[in-house]
Amino acid sequence: MATVEIQGITKQFGTGQAVDGVDLFVNDGEFFVLLGPSGCGKSTLLRIVAGIEQPTCGEVRIGGRVVNELPPQARQVAMVFQSYALYPHMTVFKNIAFPLEVQGMGREAIGQKAKKAAAMFGIEHLLDRKPRELSGGERQRVALARALVREPAVFLLDEPLSNLDAKLRTAAREELLLLQRRIGTTTLYVTHDQMEAMGLADRIAVMHAGRVRQLGTPQEIYDEPADTFVAGFLGSPPMNLVAHGDVIIGLRPEHLVPKEVYRGQGKPVSFQLNVTRVEYLGAERIIYGTLEEKFGNAHMLARLSSDITVSFLQGRRYEFTIEEQAMKYFDRATELKIRTRPL
Ligand code: ATP
Repeated sequence: MATVEIQGITKQFGTGQAVDGVDLFVNDGEFFVLLGPSGCGKSTLLRIVAGIEQPTCGEVRIGGRVVNELPPQARQVAMVFQSYALYPHMTVFKNIAFPLEVQGMGREAIGQKAKKAAAMFGIEHLLDRKPRELSGGERQRVALARALVREPAVFLLDEPLSNLDAKLRTAAREELLLLQRRIGTTTLYVTHDQMEAMGLADRIAVMHAGRVRQLGTPQEIYDEPADTFVAGFLGSPPMNLVAHGDVIIGLRPEHLVPKEVYRGQGKPVSFQLNVTRVEYLGAERIIYGTLEEKFGNAHMLARLSSDITVSFLQGRRYEFTIEEQAMKYFDRATELKIRTRPL
């Protein structure tokens, strides 16, 4: 097990800055997620930790030791990519055993370790198959077992679940988390999927344009977004951001309810919503609408659980209420969070 320290890391490709002065400290045994949209630099950062990309400047330390000059195989890291890159002509057993063979380990020890790794992922019965005879989920498990077999100090995972269908993905996420908790290996995980990040992470670094915009636990990031980018990136649907004077008001869709069913303890604040569409999703409904003129007719969404049975007609106005405490405020010029401020 090991800590990972990223200090002042910058990566320039030609004139573009893929990573722009990132500082992070990943604790021993932590499940740490780099979250951000496509192109934000998260994969580049992971590749720099792995040693397959050199930073333009900055230092990477693994277990307290500077590894900038070390090749990937000397860093005690194991990386799993989105495309698992299994060896197609080798059996599952051979695929898992391969990293140990390269290390020159004895046959018996290899057999034991490969079988143990396969057992951890429940793929012992597949050891004689070739990758083409496996489902996507099974291939993914083989790739993880192959990464695990070397007993790395750090796992580096780059969207390892993105080839799986939604159902399998949820199951694989659960499996991965349980495994990580059991073996306790420090894990750095890259994804653009906020649900995945929220479900897996001890802490998340939200990245945008090569920089870390916010670092915190899933709850800190969701409840107290540091800026409008983070506010608008997390949540499904994300936070409503409504410009008003020199502030931007942030309202989570699930905090808005029709006035008549408001049961909050705190001071209520109400908005007139002109309902434009209602989306029925079984366990919940998403109400789409536009606000009054004084809010620039901004779009707003409310997410109502199925126990709220109030009906809505398209094109009609309804009053929606939120507890004042749940409202967030951002500076319109800097887009950074500001302390609570009355409307
Ligand atoms: P995705 O989720 O799409 O993989 P990402 O957040 O992982 O995105 P990176 O792959 O790290 O983003 O890329 C960050 C930026 O650096 C992008 O603008 C990308 O075009 C650029 N980039 C990445 N690799 C190279 C390269 N080898 N040469 C030039 N530019 C690159």
